[in-house]
Amino acid sequence: MALVEVKDVSKRFGGLTAVSGVDLAVHAGEVHCLIGPNGAGKSTLFKLIVGLYPPTHGSILFDAVDITNKRPYARVQRGMSIKMQAPSVFKELPVRQNVRIALQGRLTGPERIAEEERLLTLLNLAADGEKRAGALSHGQQQWLEIGMALALKPQLLLLDEPTAGMSSDETFKTGELIKSLNAEGMTVLVVEHDMAFVRQVAQRVTVLHLGKVFARGNLESILHDEKVAEIYLGKSHAH
Ligand code: ADP
Ligand code: MG
Repeated sequence: MALVEVKDVSKRFGGLTAVSGVDLAVHAGEVHCLIGPNGAGKSTLFKLIVGLYPPTHGSILFDAVDITNKRPYARVQRGMSIKMQAPSVFKELPVRQNVRIALQGRLTGPERIAEEERLLTLLNLAADGEKRAGALSHGQQQWLEIGMALALKPQLLLLDEPTAGMSSDETFKTGELIKSLNAEGMTVLVVEHDMAFVRQVAQRVTVLHLGKVFARGNLESILHDEKVAEIYLGKSHAH
């Protein structure tokens, strides 16, 4: 069943069509990767799904409900949790406090403390709870922000380039984290550049190119698609 359905969605910025007639279904229980060369429209599509932009055309459904015109917070209330490209933790506060703030609306007392511990352990941050968040490595800050997104207990986790700025070791650990969340039933949509990471986590892949869906399928079929290699895998894609 499709948890998210993007139907014929377009987004124009003045004369530029960043996303053009895109259909996309994210199935409940899968890890779905959205890939494509720089400028393909990935982040724009991501922002359309989370509600940061209204589409110029088309509709978006979440759990069979039309959310096309819903504000981001209303989408979060329905079970979406979002991690944008740049980490935005509270740098001056301790790591643990960051997680606590994210949990505050949902849990209190011993339940909150237990969940705080569970998340810190899950994020490999159990030893760093008292550190200032700003003192963590860039990769650890990304994990902390993923943890804050998880604190909302979402049905769908949306990540825009979660491994940006990470070492290859941190990237691998992030992949394992996503896989363990998925094994517990979390649906994940990830925008990603790093192909090693996509190989590690993806079950299905959608390739965007020039704002349109260029290819889609399971990981194996995308990895063996020569047209995809031409536009994406073969090129360097610094951003
Ligand atoms: P990707 O994330 O795949 O690199 P983006 O979605 O960021 O691609 O960008 C797609 C295209 O839309 C690019 O040509 C980009 O310059 C343009 N674009 C993105 N956001 C805006 C915006 N807010 N205003 C104008 N143009 C934008
Ligand atoms: Mg982007």
